[in-house]
Amino acid sequence: MSEILVLVEQVDGEVKKVTLELLTLARSLGSPSAVWAGPGLTDAATAKLAEYGAEKVYNAPSSDVVDYVVAPRAELLAQLVGDKSPAAVLVASTAEGKEIAGRLAVKTDSGVITDAVGLAEGFVADQSIFGGGVNVHSRVAKGTPIVAVRPNSTAPAPAAGAGAVEEVAVSLSEGAKAARIVDRVKQEKGARPELTEAAIVVSGGRGVGSAENFSVIEGLADALGAAVGASRAATDAGWYPHQFQVGQTGKTVSPQLYIAAGISGAIQHRAGMQTAKTIIAINKDPEAPIFELADYGVVGDLHQVVPQLTEESTTRTSRPPAAAPRFPRGAASVVRAQATCALVRRAVTSHPASMPASTGRPWRLAKPARTSPATAARAGKAQAGTRARWVTSWKATAATTARAIGASGKSWETAITMA
Ligand code: FAD
Repeated sequence: MSEILVLVEQVDGEVKKVTLELLTLARSLGSPSAVWAGPGLTDAATAKLAEYGAEKVYNAPSSDVVDYVVAPRAELLAQLVGDKSPAAVLVASTAEGKEIAGRLAVKTDSGVITDAVGLAEGFVADQSIFGGGVNVHSRVAKGTPIVAVRPNSTAPAPAAGAGAVEEVAVSLSEGAKAARIVDRVKQEKGARPELTEAAIVVSGGRGVGSAENFSVIEGLADALGAAVGASRAATDAGWYPHQFQVGQTGKTVSPQLYIAAGISGAIQHRAGMQTAKTIIAINKDPEAPIFELADYGVVGDLHQVVPQLTEESTTRTSRPPAAAPRFPRGAASVVRAQATCALVRRAVTSHPASMPASTGRPWRLAKPARTSPATAARAGKAQAGTRARWVTSWKATAATTARAIGASGKSWETAITMA
């Protein structure tokens, strides 16, 4: 099997989730080898990398590799590309990862693809380009394919690899040592997950109305274990810090679930979130462009809808089943994402507006097509402008939703499976 290098992202020796995603992806295409840049590789970290399929772990413990801004890591990878002739190199499509990928491409005279959201046989990458307006399949035509893959593009799945550690002595050029890191300040981190890595993101826009009202968005985020995002209109107004802005000039997110509340869906906002697996839009304007993109749409005042969702989500998470679902560790947030989709779908489908008088049935399933226009559009198969047809009014209250779940006799676990 051909070797694929995966550059490890870690904080204080703890391997970040995106690396486990990259190892999982690499495993589907070849034999993954993790590359640890800098000191601090522990037995625990090696075991983690092996657990997710790393056959080898190249350890370059020199502090020089991380004492200077990105260039040394590109040189380390270039050296390994020269020595090992891997089939491809994968890095996380973060700001740093993309810069490393670009430098590596120059050093190895190879092609580079950034912002990939998938990678298939022959290293054909799914890529979202032109501000997210177009999805393309791209393949590197020259040298060693270097692919920067967005966090959350692949669900990490364990499958043991040998995890054999091989020491690497890297010789850095003087040019790589041009910009030294003189200090590192830890960013204040709340209990919420990091925005670009979160499995669920709840974002608020101008429709939120004020800085104080963002507590409504935070409330839902906390109930779901999600990160909070914001549109530029909200950050420019000073309602939420700029570091949480999602979009073309903000962060790019690819979560399992993105909830946009009071956001119109401007192209610049879409550029940062439209590769989310499922999108729920809450907006009082049924003509809001965000509904062209949404998998589930709720037309209503977010100040009513979001607290109801929060309340229902809190109730559900506070009463887990006696026989707890046996989900793999780390999958909890994904499960919550699915459960929220189920919750919204049930609320939408149980709304009287979707009840055909002729059938006499209490409600009908309003999900109109196997592939939603939004999903198809995002897969590049449908034209933009097709409006989500299941947009309806939010009148199904949390109580109605809870009754529907109760009446169905479904357990929490089954309800999730239905999502
Ligand atoms: P609006 O467009 O004003 O939409 C507010 C929405 O809230 C409306 O649809 C309204 O119906 C709804 N609403 C109002 N009240 C309620 C309520 N009570 N309940 C429910 N819904 C309600 N924008 C970004 O987000 N990210 C970027 O990175 C970004 N980069 C940009 C870069 C450039 C170069 C430019 C020119 C613009 C950029 N923008 C970016 C701005 C972008 O064009 C939009 O102006 C912005 O996204 C609008 O934010 P919004 O959807 O919150 O506000």
